[in-house]
Amino acid sequence: MKKSMSLILAVVCAFGLLVAGCGGEKKATEQPVLRVGMEPTFAPFEFQKEGSKEYDGFDMDLARAIGKQLNMKVEIVSMGFDGLIPALNAGSIDAIASGMTITPERSENVTFSEPYYKSGLTVMVREDEKEIQGIEDLKGKKIAVQIGTTGAMEAHKIEGATVVEFNANTEAALELKNGGVSAVVNDLPVVAYFLEQGGGKEYAKMVGHVVTSEEYGIAVKKGNDKLVGELNKALAELKKNGEYDKIYKTWFGEQVK
Ligand code: GLN
Repeated sequence: MKKSMSLILAVVCAFGLLVAGCGGEKKATEQPVLRVGMEPTFAPFEFQKEGSKEYDGFDMDLARAIGKQLNMKVEIVSMGFDGLIPALNAGSIDAIASGMTITPERSENVTFSEPYYKSGLTVMVREDEKEIQGIEDLKGKKIAVQIGTTGAMEAHKIEGATVVEFNANTEAALELKNGGVSAVVNDLPVVAYFLEQGGGKEYAKMVGHVVTSEEYGIAVKKGNDKLVGELNKALAELKKNGEYDKIYKTWFGEQVK
């Protein structure tokens, strides 16, 4: 039964192809889709404004601008940060734009675009914290991080520290607020935004110097040179035509890049 159905389908499709193109091939007017994966608790790069279903942020604006450049329809797919690379490899998304740092380990599994944002890690503690002045004071302490991030990797290197991993950055910050941990290790622009605009300054502060020097890249499936080439071309064009600067200013003001 199944066999004959698929045979019929194949015949219909073969005939259809002659007439109008059966599936697969898109009509000229239909835009191809670029499925972009991200984790949405990383403001101001990707997040949902309170009460909004829309995904907002620097990466989201950049992804949409790239889509426009490539004449592709951008579809944002939300998931856990540690699920992004597996999803890319499984083919359920085409690219990752999620404040993802280009690291040698990740580069073994995915192909990164040219860097699009300079970043680094920092330490956030409670407002009334006196003892912890920076990462060197975190030995033997309890630290909250987001699972699968460079912050988690760095925290695991600290002698005697207990690292508590959360799915969302918002949960890590809440754990700090509730006194469950002494510090959070996370990306500096995200901590800074949280303290300025995310309600963090009521109970938290940033301490010490920038811990690491990192760069974000858009990831595609390992070896997808065609897509990464297109992304790089679009990025270069957006930098040239001022669109990148415009998006940057929206989220970071006049700060130096
Ligand atoms: N830049 C960090 C990393 O790549 C954190 C990214 C994130 O939490 N979205 O691991």
